[in-house]
Amino acid sequence: MNKVIHLSSVYSKDDVSHNPKDVSLCVQCGKCKALCPTYIESSSEVLGSRGRAAILKKFNQGDVAFSKRLYESLSSCILCEACSKSCPLQINIADAVYRSRKMLRGFDKKTILLNYILKFALKNPSRTFKIFKLLKIISDIPKVEMLYPFRYFNKLGVTMPDLPFKDKTTVFRASSPKGRIAVFTGCVINCLYPSYGKSLINLLNSLRYDVILPHGEFCCGAPLLELGLEEDAMKLAEMNLYAFKNLNVEYTISLCPTCIHFIKNIYKRYLGNSIDNAIDISQFLIEKSSGFPELAKKIKATLNPYIANTIYHDPCHSKYSLGIFSEPRYILGKIGFNLTNPSEVGCCGLGGAFGFLFEGLSDGILQNRLESFKEADMIITSCPNCVLQLKSKIKDRQVTHIIDVIAGFVGKNNT
Ligand code: SF4
Ligand code: SF4
Repeated sequence: MNKVIHLSSVYSKDDVSHNPKDVSLCVQCGKCKALCPTYIESSSEVLGSRGRAAILKKFNQGDVAFSKRLYESLSSCILCEACSKSCPLQINIADAVYRSRKMLRGFDKKTILLNYILKFALKNPSRTFKIFKLLKIISDIPKVEMLYPFRYFNKLGVTMPDLPFKDKTTVFRASSPKGRIAVFTGCVINCLYPSYGKSLINLLNSLRYDVILPHGEFCCGAPLLELGLEEDAMKLAEMNLYAFKNLNVEYTISLCPTCIHFIKNIYKRYLGNSIDNAIDISQFLIEKSSGFPELAKKIKATLNPYIANTIYHDPCHSKYSLGIFSEPRYILGKIGFNLTNPSEVGCCGLGGAFGFLFEGLSDGILQNRLESFKEADMIITSCPNCVLQLKSKIKDRQVTHIIDVIAGFVGKNNT
């Protein structure tokens, strides 16, 4: 049965949990379970937000013995931060889970190997791309394709580009520039979807911004922190803070909400310092760019012939961690898309390493999400990870990033 959730009743922009409350304040009311994807899918208290809050409380007090059950409960949290939206006390269980994961590392053999591979892969962006390529080549070998973890890579249906999005500092100049913007590319755009990165540059140049891609950018650290590798994640954070420090830019835009959440919020929580001017593309277009209304009119004129029933899928870190909900809907409405079910929300089930480590749960969450897309002719989102996960199952309709919709137009008309 499709479990549809409407976010409008719990959504509030003031409610963004940048300053998470301690899980020890939890009164076990259970209100957070309404949006917890792992609870909705499993109906298990242990795999839900309230159960995790109870376990974390005891765990933090040293009152609970380490066990497989405890490990499963805390390691299966998708870290979506939905619970912080529905908790009347604004407790952010994800924050407490991140911190607990440091103690959990090494418990499961599967994650020990994954930790080594990720640490090695993410310390150098060109190495990350080569490892993706190698994984793809191995995953395509008959018989090997069915072995774990190659089976998972195959399931995602990854198509590798010939080159990553960037490999050195590059500045893309606009004519008569009115400002300068940095792009935080992120691993998935860099390795798998360079076309989205190019679309972003086209768009920003057309709005008369020079664009800089700094060479010293590393992974935002999310996959490492997720696996409890806090020290390694924070080393990457420090290198990113350094790379984006003196760029003399008005904003830093990323097409990945997890990257923005990390460079803006998580770095601040852990290091007291962040890339403060980081902003999502929808928010930038509406709040910071005077050129959007004119652009919207042009896009509307071009797109009208093939606009159909469209669903906007909210990435979890976009709506829960960054408080972005109305902005992409406003943009899509302005350029002429007819959004069906505009207040309906749900998780795609990828959640970084979650999809890999909890395949069954992840598949169930995705399947539930797909039920909501039955009537849609096109699915638009704002996260390359969501695109990846949704495309693994949706083959008969277009699934794309919002940048493609907006800047696809710009690209066509600039050539
Ligand atoms: S972060 Fe998401 S998966 Fe984890 S407890 Fe909260 S709602 Fe559930
Ligand atoms: S809603 Fe808040 S107080 Fe209630 S169970 Fe969830 S975390 Fe605890």
